[in-house]
Amino acid sequence: MKFNDFLQHLSTYEPGKDIELIAKEYGVKEVIKLASNENPFGTPPKALESLKQNANKAHLYPDDSMSELKNKLAQKYGVKNENIIIGAGSDQIIEFAVHAKLNPKNAFLQARVTFAMYEIYAKQCGAKCYKTTSITHNLDEFKKLYEEHRAEIKIIFLCLPNNPLGECLNRSEVLEFMRGVDKDCLLVIDGAYNEFASFKDSKKHLKPCELIKEFENVLYLGTFSKLYGLGGLRVGYGMAGAKIIKALYKLRAPFNVNNLALKAAAAALDDESFTQKTLENNFSQMELYKEFAKKYSIKSIESYTNFITYFFDEKNSTDLTEKLLKKGIIIRNLKSYGLNAMRITLGTPYENERFFTEFESILKEL
Ligand SMILES: *Cc1c(COP(=O)(O)O)cnc(C)c1O
Repeated sequence: MKFNDFLQHLSTYEPGKDIELIAKEYGVKEVIKLASNENPFGTPPKALESLKQNANKAHLYPDDSMSELKNKLAQKYGVKNENIIIGAGSDQIIEFAVHAKLNPKNAFLQARVTFAMYEIYAKQCGAKCYKTTSITHNLDEFKKLYEEHRAEIKIIFLCLPNNPLGECLNRSEVLEFMRGVDKDCLLVIDGAYNEFASFKDSKKHLKPCELIKEFENVLYLGTFSKLYGLGGLRVGYGMAGAKIIKALYKLRAPFNVNNLALKAAAAALDDESFTQKTLENNFSQMELYKEFAKKYSIKSIESYTNFITYFFDEKNSTDLTEKLLKKGIIIRNLKSYGLNAMRITLGTPYENERFFTEFESILKEL
């Protein structure tokens, strides 16, 4: 069978490996997954309670207005319901945005190493891709490329902080850059980890209400998959001016988020002790990862997220990833991004200790 041409140039997203599958395949008793930036403390207690309470409603279609969750988000972020769209993960909002703006005659702009889904969706629309040569976000390069291809570029993706490298631009420099972009170009600000960055450094804090107020062409993305511990339920959101939200709504299938997920997400927003514990653990454990890197002369970039990226010179990241896997530790090899590096999601103190012990023994054996 012949398929559409664009499929030939499309790579398949490589998700983190599954814990149960690895346990079986390698015969390891206790598998630790530090690969998908999930919350190491599990499901937030308030969300768990909500899931139990609503388990007997699986036969009902969800409330398609999603007003309970929208009201909570609107209140928390100081926007109106008309400024919000909820998706099956913020991934789905990226898909809507791309389908709303890109086509074979235009282009998008992104950092060389950033969230893989931008390019995957954009290529489905046949749009051309411009990338910076720097691996991390370099606004001078963004500016230069945008000015060179201004008429063509219809989406700019900024991942703040960036997955899979962890760096984060300051709010003030981002705003200044945004002011130089034409109103017909959609600025997608991916804040999947912005809660982590804001906790560490207030200069990184992006407020969707401020962005929407100043820019009619901005779309801010947030997710419940990382800090809020609900990756398995698939809930994310986009915030923008009402005109953008209306356009994205045309691409949405009804009931795109299930009712248990909607209710659990609303409950998770209230679980402040859970999110606080997550943030504090994350950045205290980050220090241990930095010390470990120093001890073994591994390079890393300052991370504003719940993961850290280790770069290697002589040692091979694919080899190291495979060796860790055999010991039951799943991390993310960044070979597919063209880097000799690995991304490690910060776990509980117990999980991190196991990583250090196993990785240390691997490095010493080399
Ligand atoms: C995880 C992630 C998302 C979206 O995750 P969903 O589970 O689809 O909400 C979006 N952007 C980045 C950079 C991410 O890391």
